[in-house]
Amino acid sequence: MIEVRGARKSYGPLEVLKGIDLSVARGQIIAVIGPSGSGKSTLLRSINHLETLDGGEVWLDGVQANQKLERRAFERHINQVRQQMGMVFQHFNLFPHLSVADNITIAPVKLKGMARDKARELALKMLDKVGLADKIDAYPARLSGGQKQRVAIARALAMQPKVMLFDEATSALDPELVDEVNLVMKQLASEHMTMVIVTHEMRFAAEVADKVLFMADGAVVEEGTPDELFSNPKQERTRTFLRKFL
Ligand code: ATP
Ligand code: MG
Repeated sequence: MIEVRGARKSYGPLEVLKGIDLSVARGQIIAVIGPSGSGKSTLLRSINHLETLDGGEVWLDGVQANQKLERRAFERHINQVRQQMGMVFQHFNLFPHLSVADNITIAPVKLKGMARDKARELALKMLDKVGLADKIDAYPARLSGGQKQRVAIARALAMQPKVMLFDEATSALDPELVDEVNLVMKQLASEHMTMVIVTHEMRFAAEVADKVLFMADGAVVEEGTPDELFSNPKQERTRTFLRKFL
């Protein structure tokens, strides 16, 4: 479903991605862990071209996302690609001046030309999935952090993406609000949504992921099943990192 090959990215002299390979099969859930600054967000953002790679390829479902095209053609192409990926950030990025319904329907209406009443129906369905159907006409300011993040997930799902990308979706939340968001992600997992999840929560990664990728200094140091990586890490670098979470 997603293939990243030899992804390289520098900011000035700082090499942030040093040739990353990542392969995500349909329905697979990959957790990406690693110290702060190791390039996790940059990798995730490169997948949907919020960052432009200096080298390497990103493929979604057999189509190269970062293919060379003339500027206008590339914009059309990348917008198509982006519509197939839902992204959820640490900060919810909801539009504060729009109701929950409008936050969710704006993309299906504007980008897919969906009729408004159809889009509202879809919004209701997605909100129901995240347990917030009763908040459809609320404004973001009236929601808790956990509720905002669940709306952000519903908004991403409303585009019916092939894959969901989560960048520390719970790390800005008060501890008591983390579970409700993790629960939604687990539910998506049980529905076989393809997901790439950047997280600092090792327990959650172990519970939900099929494969865990440990990144440090812009490289994949080690990858394996949660059991391999958490119970039996091979690299000293991985062991040192994981000790901090014990
Ligand atoms: P964290 O766990 O703190 O979120 P991360 O693994 O997601 O860290 P990235 O955000 O990918 O790390 O950043 C990797 C490195 O690239 C860091 O050293 C960061 O300071 C640097 N970096 C990220 N974005 C930019 C930018 N736009 N300009 C310059 N440097 C950047
Ligand atoms: Mg990050």
